[in-house]
Amino acid sequence: MKRIRLNFFMLFDTHCHLQFQAFKEDRDDAIARSLARGMILNVVGTQKDTSRAAVALAETYDGMYATIGTHPIHLFPTHVDEEETSFQSREEDFDEAYYETLARSKKVVAVGETGIDLYHLPKDKPKEDVLAKQRDVFLKHAAFAQKHNLALVIHCRDAHDELIQTLKSTVNGQLSMLIRGVVHCFSSNWTHAEQYLDLGLYLGFTGVITFPAKKTNPQVQENLLEVVRRMPLDRILVETDSPYLAPQAYRGKRCEPWMVEETVKKIAEICGVSPAKIEEQTTNNARALFLKGE
Ligand SMILES: [Zn+2]
Repeated sequence: MKRIRLNFFMLFDTHCHLQFQAFKEDRDDAIARSLARGMILNVVGTQKDTSRAAVALAETYDGMYATIGTHPIHLFPTHVDEEETSFQSREEDFDEAYYETLARSKKVVAVGETGIDLYHLPKDKPKEDVLAKQRDVFLKHAAFAQKHNLALVIHCRDAHDELIQTLKSTVNGQLSMLIRGVVHCFSSNWTHAEQYLDLGLYLGFTGVITFPAKKTNPQVQENLLEVVRRMPLDRILVETDSPYLAPQAYRGKRCEPWMVEETVKKIAEICGVSPAKIEEQTTNNARALFLKGE
């Protein structure tokens, strides 16, 4: 176990992808830059190989944990083309036996990222089929998380109503599942936020909250900042989603976990409290969710 820890753990990046290709050349240095600041990191998998790599990293470093699962965009071959990345996703199913083996590691703290993504749609499949498949696989992840007493890391893009409906689905009037988890990179409005909070979920905020409003549609950012303002402090998590979504101060650069301090600063500014208070609170929240208070 490599110990680079210097300070008391003060900041918890609850969602990063340090195992991705973007860190191929200097992964250990990038990790050291964050761990040297006394951070705790949750490295999140998106399919089998990136989940295995997340566990391997977590097993190597003190202060690092792993999340294992299959991202909804990997259930179909899809072309992903965005500001910071462009790739063809590889099709893969949720291989429960494979994840069972990974879940034996004590460093595995959550299942995901799983969820619903209706933004990246494959060209040759009707939306209903994509949604049905993603929903089915999401429920499998949720059951797996429950079975292993792990948290759930939920991804949602252009599908909050569909996801909330899935979460609220009932069997004989009872919620069909009780989930301990986080809706990561939350970027919608208070109507959605409130429903997730009612279900007991945490919301994770990234550098997106530091971005300026889009001139073409400023309402989107106003809605998001309103959510931050209205959030109960004990349900906020901070994350980078690195290597993506570098906060505004570093926009265009590869994002690294230590940059999560920009998100902390922004939350502190919006909520009118000190950054130190937000650091402490969000770290305690993340410990409660992922480390069961450890
Ligand atoms: Zn992610």
